[in-house]
Amino acid sequence: MTDTPDPEYRIVVGLEVHAQLRTRTKCFCACAASGGDGPNSRTCPVCLGLPGALPVLSRAALDLSVRAAVALGCRIAQHTWWDRKHYGYADLPKGYQITQHASPIGTDGLLRFEGGDGPREVRIQRVHLEEDTGRSIHDEERTRLAFDRAGIALLEIVTEPDLRTSADVRACLLAIRRLLRWIGVSDAEMEHGQMRCEPNVNLHIRCSADAGTGSAWTPTPIAEIKNLNSITAAARAVDYEVARQLAEWNATGTIGPGPRTTRGWSESAQRTELQRVKEEAADYRFLPEPDLPVVTCAPELAEAARAAQSELPDARRRRYIDDLGLPAEVADELTQTLALSDWFERAAGAADAPRPVAAWIVGNLALVEAAIVHRRFSAKDLGKLVRAVERGRVPRAAARRIILPEMARRGTKWREIVAREGLEMADDAEVAAAVRATVDAHPDLVETARAGRPQVLEVLVGDVMRATRGRADAAMVRTLVRGLVLGRP
Ligand SMILES: [Zn+2]
Repeated sequence: MTDTPDPEYRIVVGLEVHAQLRTRTKCFCACAASGGDGPNSRTCPVCLGLPGALPVLSRAALDLSVRAAVALGCRIAQHTWWDRKHYGYADLPKGYQITQHASPIGTDGLLRFEGGDGPREVRIQRVHLEEDTGRSIHDEERTRLAFDRAGIALLEIVTEPDLRTSADVRACLLAIRRLLRWIGVSDAEMEHGQMRCEPNVNLHIRCSADAGTGSAWTPTPIAEIKNLNSITAAARAVDYEVARQLAEWNATGTIGPGPRTTRGWSESAQRTELQRVKEEAADYRFLPEPDLPVVTCAPELAEAARAAQSELPDARRRRYIDDLGLPAEVADELTQTLALSDWFERAAGAADAPRPVAAWIVGNLALVEAAIVHRRFSAKDLGKLVRAVERGRVPRAAARRIILPEMARRGTKWREIVAREGLEMADDAEVAAAVRATVDAHPDLVETARAGRPQVLEVLVGDVMRATRGRADAAMVRTLVRGLVLGRP
């Protein structure tokens, strides 16, 4: 590195995302897509690439791909087909991968998401359906091959290079993962290899010498960072790559469009490492897969997908902020999954009060999520409880500390808990009696308050709240105590 000041530059990042589709079987054979009984138990002549075995397209994989392309706002292909992409690798048994080259299912889409510091858009170049490869497992002595993943249905999403910061890269990947889960096309568990991403990173640098020539921005060569399996790693790899390319530019003073390079991310060293330099576009000798038909029904499937599609997470988040008046971070939490968001809407409907319900859910998120999974209480139960609290019929503290935890633990109805524990709000006579008894019991504090330190009356307010087990309204108790002691509120 040199200490030359950084030149003016902008970061240019595009993403390739691979997500495993939620299908029972693999993409082109009947092998199970998950489960199995040890390495190479989920294989057959098709996914092992044995001579004469013929692929059959999974209808479910096609459906889910179209659904994803629709949700990403893509134009859907009238005719879509598959191609063979040839390259030699031990875990690619056929010697080619079945993918889509010339006719992706979807093109020209758009994803809106909340970026590092405001709303962002990323254009979607293409969405296509392909098969996964097997796995090579290297140890010191040998390489072993497992073909259980070979042939699994993968969705590939390619964005345009519209991202400008690593924070936006992170936010975009989070948005893609949330969307894929929301529409039910992928579980997208990155730690299980169900979603992987490859950022393409370069810089556009404004060289001072360019000022006279009019060529404003000079690009550095694009680095493609392979197979990242966490969103954090993707953001860090982009940060590292930006610093590396900048340092290289500073050291050499010139950098021009050079060959694309492929780099790997080393988690232990927290840096990218050169894997290979692509002197020219790799020659994969694409040719249409002759054993699969051209699909012409994608537009019809897209029509059905559009009709069945629920409101998408970004639109719903905006509606929560704009129409319901929820704070942005609350709207974010509530739109993390479709299940939680739908549950919130049912609870808000039952309470007829979206904002308090949202605060209750976000403030007790672990408990609510467990309740959804184990069906301990319903959205309507929570909504009715919140309504009772908001209308002053059930004490807020008791609802939080006693009622909601018991609903979650035992599934007891909140009305039963209130009746059993005597948790209805104290009536006016009971509160007034408690205030009088407390004031009578503390002549010293009363004297201090009357001598010019009314703040000590807070001790009495606390005592009354304890005496009524939180079943009184604290503001009302305060007014009554001050009235009794000071003769004014
Ligand atoms: Zn198979």
